[in-house]
Amino acid sequence: MSTSLENAAHRPRLGPLTDLDGVGPARAASLAALGLFDIGDLLFLAPRRLVSGADDMTIAQATSCVGREVKISGRIEKSTLQRFGRRSTLRVTVRDETGSLPALFFNQAWLQKRFKIGDEVTLRGKVVDQKGPALASPRIGSSAKPLLGSGEVATIYPAPEGITSDFIAQLVRAALTQFEGRVTDPLAPVQLARLGLTSLDVAVRKLHQPTSAEEFDAARRRMALEQLLELSARFQERRAAAAAGHALRIEIEDEHDRAVRSRFAFALTGAQGRVANELRADLARSQPMRRLLQGDVGSGKTAMGLYAALLVASARGQTAFMAPTELLAEQHFDGLRRVLERAGLSAGLLTGSLGAPARRALLLRLVAGEIDVVFGTHALFSTDVAYNKLALCVIDEQHRFGVAQRTQLLDKGRDVHALLMTATPIPRTQALALYGDLDISVLDEKPPGRGAVTTQWVRGNEKRALEKALVERVDAGERVYWVVPRIGDGEEVTGDIDPRAMSAEVRFERLLKSPLARHGVELAHGRMPSERRAQSIERFRTGEVRTLVATTVIEVGVDVPEATAIVIEVAERLGLAQLHQLRGRVGRSSRPSACYLIGAPSGSRRFEALLRTHDGFEIAEEDLRQRGMGDLMGVRQAGENSEGLADIEADLELFLFARRAVAEDPRVFECYRSLSKSRPTVHAP
Ligand code: ADP
Ligand code: MG
Repeated sequence: MSTSLENAAHRPRLGPLTDLDGVGPARAASLAALGLFDIGDLLFLAPRRLVSGADDMTIAQATSCVGREVKISGRIEKSTLQRFGRRSTLRVTVRDETGSLPALFFNQAWLQKRFKIGDEVTLRGKVVDQKGPALASPRIGSSAKPLLGSGEVATIYPAPEGITSDFIAQLVRAALTQFEGRVTDPLAPVQLARLGLTSLDVAVRKLHQPTSAEEFDAARRRMALEQLLELSARFQERRAAAAAGHALRIEIEDEHDRAVRSRFAFALTGAQGRVANELRADLARSQPMRRLLQGDVGSGKTAMGLYAALLVASARGQTAFMAPTELLAEQHFDGLRRVLERAGLSAGLLTGSLGAPARRALLLRLVAGEIDVVFGTHALFSTDVAYNKLALCVIDEQHRFGVAQRTQLLDKGRDVHALLMTATPIPRTQALALYGDLDISVLDEKPPGRGAVTTQWVRGNEKRALEKALVERVDAGERVYWVVPRIGDGEEVTGDIDPRAMSAEVRFERLLKSPLARHGVELAHGRMPSERRAQSIERFRTGEVRTLVATTVIEVGVDVPEATAIVIEVAERLGLAQLHQLRGRVGRSSRPSACYLIGAPSGSRRFEALLRTHDGFEIAEEDLRQRGMGDLMGVRQAGENSEGLADIEADLELFLFARRAVAEDPRVFECYRSLSKSRPTVHAP
C-alpha cells in the first residue's frame, strides 16, 4: 500500500481526520460517506456550489425582483407559525421605510424564538412568488457572521447527516493551512496552458477560496480533469487487460442459434436480429465482450440480454443479470424465468430483502452451478457471492449505475463477457469519449403494433378534463400511472421544502376519494417494504386495481402493456431523460396512450422538448445540451452555477485530453492508476 501512496504524491496524506478539532469517530464516519478519510482528501472535496452575495435593496425594490437573490434589512413586524403535522411554515414579516415583505422558513419552527417583534434583521435570499412576493428560506445575518455583500462569494459544501456545510468549510480551511508545497501537478505546465487550465495547487486553493465565480469555475475545470484522468487511466488499464482476457468461448451452430431465437414469444425485430448476430460473434471470442446496447424505451432490450444468457447457458456458463432497482430485478426474474425453465435452465433472484436462510440457500446453489441465470441488483457482486462459472454479466439500465460503480464491476469480472444496456442514448462523439473501451450496438426499431403516445402539458382548468379522460380509460380496463417524484428525486429542489408540496402519499389519499377509486388505486414507492411494493405492482399488473400512484421507482423497466396513461405531477422536479423514461411506461400495446405533464413553468424547456419529439436520441442530445457532459459522467454537480447551456465541446475536449495524457505519458498513467487503487471503496447508499 505504501508504494502506491507514494506514487500518488500529488494527493498528500496529511493524517487522519480525527487529528482535526471537532472530529471524533462519529463525525469521521459521516465524513467517510463523502469519500473523506484523510485530511488531504478535504483539499479535493468539490464544493456543492458557490453562493454570491446580493445587492442591498430596499424592501420596495426587492418586492419587484421576483426570481432574484436580494439582501434586505428591516424591523420584524410580525411572525406566524403554521403547522402541518410534523411540518411547518414560519412566516416573518420584515418592514423598512419603503414597505414590508414576508420571509418564509420551512420546518424550522425553532426559529420563531429568534425573531422578536421590533428587532432589526438582515436577510438574504431569493424572492419567490407565493401568493405575492416573499423571501424563501433566506439566510440570516448576524454580527458574528455577516451576510455576503455584493461581489463576494462563498463555497457551500455537501453536508452529510449531522454535519453542516460551515463545519466542513472549517475543516477545509484547516487542511489548506497544511497543504502548501505538498501538491504538485503531474501534468506539465505547457500541457495545462494549452487548455487554459491552472495547475493543481492553484486550483486546490481557488476551489475553496475563490474571489470570483470565474476563478471558481476555472478551479472546478481542473478538478474535473483530475477525475477524467483517473477514469482514463482505468479505461486504459482495462483495455490492456481485455485484450489478453480469457472469457468463455461460446461457439454456436446455426441450428442451435435458430432454436434459441425461437424461444421468444415473438419474432425478433430486424434490429434485434442484427444485435443478436453481434452478440453471437462477440461471445465466440475469448476476448471478453464489452458491448453497450442502446435502445429507446420499449425497443426490446431485455430480450437481447436473455438471448445472450441463453447462448452462454448452452456452454454451461452462468449469467448475472443486473438491474438498478429491486423492482426491476424482480420483474425480470418473473418475466424471464418461464422462458428459461422451458429451456431446461434454472433462474434465481438475489435481492437485499431476501431472508438470511433463503439467501444462504441461493448462494449455495449459485456456487454449485445449479443456477444458470441469477437476477438481482448490485448485490450480485457483494463479496460473499461466489459463482461456479460466471461467464456473462448483463447490466440493465446501466446509466443508473455511476461510472465508478460500473468500472468497478467490469474490473471485478475481467474474464466475464459484459453486455451493458441503456435507454439513454449518448450521441456518437460523446459515446466514443465516455465508452471508448466499449463496442456499441443500437436497437433502432420498435416492436410492431404499438399505439401512438400523445403528450400534453396540463395547465389550469384542463385538470378537470384530465380526470374525466383517466376515468374513461380505467372504465375500459386500461391502467393509469400517476407519478409524483419524491422530493430530491431530481436535482432542482435543494434546501428547504415547502411542506405543502405534493407527494405520492398525499396524491394517493386524494385519488382514493376520486372516481378513479372505482377500479382501485394502489401506492408504490421506494421506502415501503419491498414485498408490499411488489404486491401493489402485482395488483396493478393483473388489473385488480387500475391506478398506480408511484414515485420514480417505476421509472425504469416496468412493463405493463395495459397501461395507457401516465400522469407526471410536479414534473419540473425531473430531468428530461427521466421524463422520457417515465413516458416510456406507456405506449406498450396497440391502444393509443397519453402522457400528461403537470408542472411549473421552470420545467417548460424540458416539457416542450417532450412535446416536440419521441426520439430518445434527440432527447438525449437536448438533455446533454441542457445539463452538460460533466454531469453525464458524474464529474460535475448538476450545473448549479453554470447558467444556461453547458459547453459540451469544452467538456469533450477535456476528456480527450485526459485520454491522451494517460496514453502518452507513462508517469501520468502510473500516477492516476495508483490513485484509484489507493482509495478505499465507497459504496453508494
Ligand atoms: P426495453 O428496451 O425498454 O427494456 P422491453 O425489453 O421491456 O423494452 O420490451 C418492451 C415490451 O416489448 C415487452 O413487453 C416485450 O415483451 C415486448 N417485445 C420485445 N421485443 C418484441 C418483439 N420483437 N415483438 C413483440 N414484442 C416485443
Ligand atoms: Mg428495459
